Amino acid sequence: MTGTVYLVGAGPGDPRLLTLRGAEVLQRADVVVYDRLVAEALLDLAPSGAERIDVGKTPGAATVSQEEIHHLLVERARAGSQVVRLKGGDPFVFGRGGEEAIACADAGVPVEIVPGVTAAVAAPGIAGIPLTHRGIASTVAFVTASVATGPADLSKVATAADTLVVLMAMRRLGDVCAALVAAGRSPDEPAALVGSATTFEQRRVIATLGTLAEDAEAAGIEPPATLVVGDVVGLAEAILPSAERTPSPATADPAAGTLRLV
Ligand code: SAH
Repeated sequence: MTGTVYLVGAGPGDPRLLTLRGAEVLQRADVVVYDRLVAEALLDLAPSGAERIDVGKTPGAATVSQEEIHHLLVERARAGSQVVRLKGGDPFVFGRGGEEAIACADAGVPVEIVPGVTAAVAAPGIAGIPLTHRGIASTVAFVTASVATGPADLSKVATAADTLVVLMAMRRLGDVCAALVAAGRSPDEPAALVGSATTFEQRRVIATLGTLAEDAEAAGIEPPATLVVGDVVGLAEAILPSAERTPSPATADPAAGTLRLV
């Protein structure tokens, strides 16, 4: 009998942000096909005998192609395996989950989508930045800085929402901020970069759109990181004011607060 492919959102980093449904399907997986940003602790949830296949996309390195991933999911399911396709954040937010779901559906393989906590919401959230706030922001747009053909054209979306959350912007942060200003956002507007959200390496830099790229570089923020632009960023210091008020990082508990404020 054909198995099912579960497209599971692994959450932004902290393994405990997996959903209960995600844990349930992992616990009875025959095969786990996972990406680079997925927390290792999640792989331990699968039975010890389960096949674990790393299709991680390390930027710049040779990796398993998207077509090969489709083939793998379909073949394993056809062989009768319950397949968990574990993807960072939410599988349908800039994760090519739609392509994988279509490939399975086209092949007659049943698919279940298990939504995850997307970094687009979790990174601002854990850094004390509400995406909407009464009287300050009533609209939010999730944007990628790069598309299949290269840098994304941000000119239309730049001023279309009060809050902009930009993923995959780290490598061209200066260009992205400049493009948003060129398209009509103020260089004085608050902007933040949140790196490695919900992990021990989590960092937050708050600046303005005009100064963020420089400040983030000075702070040594590493990818993955999420850019947030808008007046809501100005609330972060009221919500999470200072390093002294965050819990000690010297604990084995990854959620106990490792937020470094720059
Ligand atoms: N499907 C994923 C997004 C994949 S695109 C999701 O829903 O979260 C990868 C981008 O997500 C990165 O370039 C970065 O912008 C963002 N990202 C992923 N994990 C992150 C983290 N822990 N902290 C900050 N940003 C993160």
